[in-house]
Amino acid sequence: MDPALVALAGATRGFMPEHEGLALHRAGLEAVATGAGPLVEIGTYCGKSAVYLGSAARAAGSVLFTVDHHRGSEENQSGWEHHDPELVDPLTGRMDTLAHFRRTMEAAGLEEWVVAVVGESSTVSVHWRTPLSLVFIDGGHGREPAWADYLGWAPHVAVGGLLAIHDVFPDPANGGRPPYELWRRALASGAFADVEACGSLRLLRRVGPGV
Ligand code: SAH
Ligand code: MG
Repeated sequence: MDPALVALAGATRGFMPEHEGLALHRAGLEAVATGAGPLVEIGTYCGKSAVYLGSAARAAGSVLFTVDHHRGSEENQSGWEHHDPELVDPLTGRMDTLAHFRRTMEAAGLEEWVVAVVGESSTVSVHWRTPLSLVFIDGGHGREPAWADYLGWAPHVAVGGLLAIHDVFPDPANGGRPPYELWRRALASGAFADVEACGSLRLLRRVGPGV
């Protein structure tokens, strides 16, 4: 990956360590090369992981759609562990990461290859029809939003394509349960096969029907 983009991702606010971001980038390159379709990310935030995936989309002349309502997850709200007061709109007091995302894509030169879809993930997944070469789930980590992301988006991964899940922690001492449960469910469904683990990132390949 272009070292200038790796540096930009490193300097962008968010939750994607460099080695995991590079693994995500490689997964994006591999998946998009299958020709199965574009890439989708759930959980844009300020565009940190979108730099890694967007640069993979660009290399293949494809597109990354990145979905977020830009109002922050439960854990990003005031008083929670992952709150950043600089991301609050002073006019309304609500979280708003959309302008930060736009600045990141502009600085990365990726505006042509990364399309922001601003809205509730489950609303978008219900209307989505295009088969995808890769889906990256990194949205709300609570039980409800995480399962809605899996059930709403995993069916859109084309056979041969990849499902990536972030923040998978087998040991409860290291983090919340839902992403780990999604990963277990994906394997148990028989629709996905284990490919790779890098930090808390898990990669699975779609191998069959059902999710
Ligand atoms: N991938 C990002 C981090 C994402 S943080 C990075 O690399 O830094 C999780 C994001 O998911 C937040 O921006 C939050 O607004 C979004 N989100 C949470 N629940 C959502 C939902 N139900 N629909 C759309 N976006 C959601
Ligand atoms: Mg994450």
